[in-house]
Amino acid sequence: MNVELVNTGTELLLGDTINTNAAWIGQRLAALGVPVTRQTIVPDGAVIRVAICEAAQRADVVLVSGGLGPTNDDLTRESTAALLDLDMEMNASVIKHLEEYFAKRGKPVSDATKRQAMVPRGSVVLPNAFGTAPGLYFPAELSATLGWNAHIFLLPGPPRELKPMMESEVEPRLRQWLVDGDSRRVLYLKVTGVGESDIVEAVEKQLEAIPELDLGYCIRNGDVDVRLAGPQPAVDAAAAVVRKALGDCIVSEDRRIIEEVIVQLLTERGEWLATAESCTGGTIANRITDVSGASRIFGHGWVTYANEAKHRHLGVPMELIETHGAVSEEVARAMAEGALRHSGADYALSVTGIAGPTGGTPEKPVGTVWIGLAAKNGETWAQKKFSPGSRDRFKLLTSQAALDMLRR
Ligand code: ATP
Ligand code: MG
Repeated sequence: MNVELVNTGTELLLGDTINTNAAWIGQRLAALGVPVTRQTIVPDGAVIRVAICEAAQRADVVLVSGGLGPTNDDLTRESTAALLDLDMEMNASVIKHLEEYFAKRGKPVSDATKRQAMVPRGSVVLPNAFGTAPGLYFPAELSATLGWNAHIFLLPGPPRELKPMMESEVEPRLRQWLVDGDSRRVLYLKVTGVGESDIVEAVEKQLEAIPELDLGYCIRNGDVDVRLAGPQPAVDAAAAVVRKALGDCIVSEDRRIIEEVIVQLLTERGEWLATAESCTGGTIANRITDVSGASRIFGHGWVTYANEAKHRHLGVPMELIETHGAVSEEVARAMAEGALRHSGADYALSVTGIAGPTGGTPEKPVGTVWIGLAAKNGETWAQKKFSPGSRDRFKLLTSQAALDMLRR
């Protein structure tokens, strides 16, 4: 079974509205194991009919969004009726819904609104609990006269109306139509600290040998999502290959980002984290506190940008900074140890580096950063990283590497 989307609306092509319906539907269908094979955006007007006609010849299911409302640029209902050669008739259940909807708001039902109760004969009304325009379902028999065999769904454009209708009216039908072996599984392995080309190098050959595997890589916020899709045995075999090759570089297998993984890990262990940041300016603390439930693991974070601040608030000796420079293993360790002491946490992370674009020396070029991690048991680790680029990217990659140290 395959699905095509047709999203209607001139405003989508003008860029006034972002096509979030397509993204959301794509994710829902991926979770169901149903592949979306094509998505088309068309302006309001006669071309809607052409787009539905083309999609219905290729796909088993066509999902159309938008253009079901009462205004005269809302043409999806009429276009589909004309395509399938169906007469329009007044639908009593829709009239009743409209009367109740407007009675609640103390308003009469206008003639323009009543247009929405005109329904192509043979189609099934999909109730709209959050708006006036009903959705419509055209069973495959209705397109059989044209030699196709496509189920067509018309869904309202506004996301708050479309989403509940997808969940309650469309997905249950799709689930019924999925036959054994039809369903695809999708698994995302989030990999951190390894570049895309290195990942490809490590796994591509073995993955290519797995039949029916659909493989994709996507760089997302400094990590690489390896997407494995296909029948269950293919996905299982591929996941085993990636796990073996990339081991503990895999942050999650359920799309969670690293800060979510860390907050959960520390919560489970009942441990606390503190941060002492220089060049990242609070990015690590910000990422941690973006996660709901962070208050169970995070109590103290310092932004000590100036040397004086590193000394005064974290107790880093000025001689250490003068001898080794602020961007050094010694200072990173001392910052982490100071943060640990002052917070009473179980772990403290520190970062000190040169974000650029100016500054830096031949020995410590722009992009150099030292990351420290101190633990309550007295151990301290430090690692050097090099992430030249924009300040944004430097902060992202540095905070990523720092958070990753906590997993190891
Ligand atoms: P209405 O009854 O509100 O007119 P409709 O079914 O006729 O609904 P449209 O007129 O096409 O739908 O779109 C209404 C609004 O819904 C748009 O202005 C936009 O805000 C939102 N919308 C439409 N299509 C999309 C889409 N693909 N992604 C996100 N939002 C959308
Ligand atoms: Mg409309």
